Amino acid sequence: MKICTFDGGRVGVVHDEAVFDVTDIFFPDGLNVPWPYPRGDVVVERLPQLRDRLAERVESGAERKPLEAVKLGPSVATPGKIIGAPINYQPHIDEANADKEINHGKTYTRIDDFGLFLKANSSLAGCDTPIDIGFTDRRVDHEIELCAVIGKQGRAISYDDALDHIAGYTIGLDMTVRGKEFPDFRKSPDTFAVLGPYLVTADEIADPNALDFELTVNGEVRQKSNTRDLVFNVQQLVEYASHMYTLYPGDVIMTGTPAGVAPVKSGDRLVATIEGLGTLATAVK
Ligand code: MN
Repeated sequence: MKICTFDGGRVGVVHDEAVFDVTDIFFPDGLNVPWPYPRGDVVVERLPQLRDRLAERVESGAERKPLEAVKLGPSVATPGKIIGAPINYQPHIDEANADKEINHGKTYTRIDDFGLFLKANSSLAGCDTPIDIGFTDRRVDHEIELCAVIGKQGRAISYDDALDHIAGYTIGLDMTVRGKEFPDFRKSPDTFAVLGPYLVTADEIADPNALDFELTVNGEVRQKSNTRDLVFNVQQLVEYASHMYTLYPGDVIMTGTPAGVAPVKSGDRLVATIEGLGTLATAVK
């Protein structure tokens, strides 16, 4: 099943290039969520118990909108945290170590020497919102990444249990200002966490560690790899992250980017595709 957010706070099921509005199934009494708000995303949290009703809505031939006619929001609207893996493909580690504008004097070794970082929730954007780099004249790079979305709360999750904690997957762009500041700062400007076009539930992805993916900029292939080349695969990332903090439904793990990162400029058209997850097309403002 494919779940999207659209038109400013609506929830949809995507089927055959059409969007079925299912906001009323998730929020029958409106947004009746007690304060303090949950640390997770309530749509992702409620998804397992509502799947039958969502499927019925699609099968009943209910009203729908063409996918291209809606404004897509981020695949997860309110993740409690957006977790990033900084160096998780060896060819990207090699290119970072060869480029002073990326490494700023650091030598990258292994992911578990550097840990993970967090992107601010305010950096989230859907693919129909242009990426805004107008606030800086610094180098801003694209990074295509497979994103795993947590479905079940857990702490210290074992490798063997990790996939049971994943609701689904989506495509992410971890946009990055290059520089020597902490990654959390450089990767958190508004619109720098693009998630789209929708969340694909885990049952549709046989093996998240064997997915072809690529990113083109203005039609030219810039990044192309397969998730089998991840240093820490999806299960290891869940295990590693949850050893440090509790993972909640809706939390997003951006799994890292392969080689080929490069600057973007105003007017660029970015098209990211991951096997089974559709195509995220966006633009730089
Ligand atoms: Mn990244």
